[in-house]
This record gives sequence, structure tokens and C-alpha cells, in this order.
Amino acid sequence: SMASPALLMRVVASAYSVAEKAATIVRNVMSAGDLGIVEKAGPNDLQTKADRLVQMSICASLARKFPKVTIIGEEELPTDDVTEDLIEDGHCEEILKKPCPAQYTGIKEEELVIWVDPLDGTKEYTEGLLDHVTVLIGIAYGGKAIAGVINQPYYNYEAGANAALGRTIWGVLGMGAFGFQLTEAPAGKHIVVTTRSHSSALVNECIAALKPDHVIRVGGAGNKIIQLIEGKASAYVFASPGCKKWDTCAPEAVLHAVGGKITDIRGNSFQYNKEVKHMNSAGVLATLRNYDYYASRIPNTVKESLVP
Ligand code: AMP
Ligand code: MG
Ligand code: MG
Repeated sequence: SMASPALLMRVVASAYSVAEKAATIVRNVMSAGDLGIVEKAGPNDLQTKADRLVQMSICASLARKFPKVTIIGEEELPTDDVTEDLIEDGHCEEILKKPCPAQYTGIKEEELVIWVDPLDGTKEYTEGLLDHVTVLIGIAYGGKAIAGVINQPYYNYEAGANAALGRTIWGVLGMGAFGFQLTEAPAGKHIVVTTRSHSSALVNECIAALKPDHVIRVGGAGNKIIQLIEGKASAYVFASPGCKKWDTCAPEAVLHAVGGKITDIRGNSFQYNKEVKHMNSAGVLATLRNYDYYASRIPNTVKESLVP
């Protein structure tokens, strides 16, 4: 008989379905019209009813199936008395059929850490910039982001009522990434994608030093990685603290699975073990190609202003 699928592939297959359920919740909260906005640290750090419900849905659904996995979600909410209607117990059969990369076949539940951003781009969600929103489920092993699921609930929302709404992108190191068309940014052009709602003098100083041909300002870490892998931008540059491990884990796994690179502004890689500090204090620098071009042009003064 066939050996049962490796744990990692079962987790990714479940995370795929859990992220699709999350996307349905994100769309339902918006169409019901009551976002229930709460300020966390301040007016640029918001939480909505969708952030809360999706956090509970993802964390409770994955914890029920994989009780020994460490799950760290952005929103601080109880997961013990989550209502049954929020639980997703399905999985993506197609993912389960794929062979697990050899280096990951022996992974045990207690060795995995799952980083969950239930709704990335909350500020934009509250402002109706719906395609900026993603649901992020990142899977780490040995401190490294090795697999990730990025759901974009409103992909295609401007294409009309007949277009299929939403998509799920996923990837595993050593396997590749799926659910989108890998595209390189135009050769010889420097297109920088950065924050829309968390700018600062340092963020702008860093971008100016790169002398970009064009700057795209959009919300969401997940959304910005999608811009890189679909060739809309050549570098994601954010010279500021603010981004957390749940923002970068799933995007990092997908980007690295297709040969890209993400680090902080000083060039240090991110760690995702459960004890790690949540804040990416030294910002973000990511590219699909030509990482060294951008890294070598970040001014030392900018690097020295950001302490990891
Ligand atoms: P952005 O590119 O502004 O959408 O940021 C990417 C992710 O990092 C989002 O989840 C933001 O909420 C978070 N983030 C970035 N900067 C800050 C900040 N100054 N305060 C709170 N969250 C931030
Ligand atoms: Mg986020
Ligand atoms: Mg969030």
C-alpha cells in the first residue's frame, strides 16, 4: 500500500483549505457591512471583525488537526471556545498527492511553527482597497520558512461579476510555488514596491537612494510579494520596523520556493522559531531577481538607523 503522506504535505494541504475558508469569512464580513473596527496600537494599527473571526478559524482548525504544532497568530484571541461554523476540516487533495521534498519527510508535529496573519492589509481592507488584502499561513521548521499559503480573497474583484473571485497561492522549498504565473519584472527597470499606509522619512530616504524608475505604494506584505512574483515590481523595500514574523513567513516561503530572496534592510535573514521576537525591526528587502543590485545600494546611514 501507499505510505501515508508526509506531515508537511498534510499541513500544507489543510492550510490551503483553511485559507479558502478564511477568504470566505473576509468577504462575508465586508458584504455584511459591519467591520467592527478596533484600534490596537493606534489609528494605523487596526483590527476588524474579519481579523478576529479568521484568526479564530485558522488557529482552531489547524490546532484541532495538528495539536502538537506551535501556532502563532497576529491577533490575541482565545482559541478554546471557537464555534463549529468557524472550523474547516478539509484539505486540498492535489497537494496531498505531491511528493514531499526528501529533506522534510521526517518532520514531526512538535518541530513545526505556523505563523498566521489572518488578514494582512487591514488598513486597506477598511478603505475598500480590497485586492491589497491577503490571508497568510507560513510554516517554519528549524527556524526557516519552508512552506506558505497566501490567499487573496478579492483577486479579480475589478474584473466583473463573472470573473472567479479570489485565489490561493502556495509553495514549498524544494518544490516550487503554484497558483499564479511566475513572471519577471521588466529588465533594466527599477520598480520599487513599498508601504502605502506606514511611510516615514527613513522609508522614503531609502527608496530615493535606489533611484527607482517607478514606486508602487500598496498595502500588505503578502500583496507586495505577489507584486514581485508576478513581475509588477522588482524590489520590495521597507526601511522601518512594523512588519512582523506572521507578515513575512508565508511570503518568504513562496518567494524562496521560486528562487527569490527576502532579508531585513541590513541583509540578515529572518528566523521563525517560536521563541523569536515578532517584530522585523530592521525592515524588509525582497526581490525575485537581482537582490544584490538593491542590497548594495541601500545607504549605510539607513542600515545604521535600523536595529534588528
Ligand atoms: P504595509 O506595507 O504598510 O501594508 O505593512 C505590511 C505589514 O506590516 C502589515 O501587516 C502592517 O500592518 C504591518 N506594519 C508595517 N508598519 C507598521 C506600523 N508602523 N504599525 C503597525 N503595523 C505595521
Ligand atoms: Mg499583516
Ligand atoms: Mg493582520
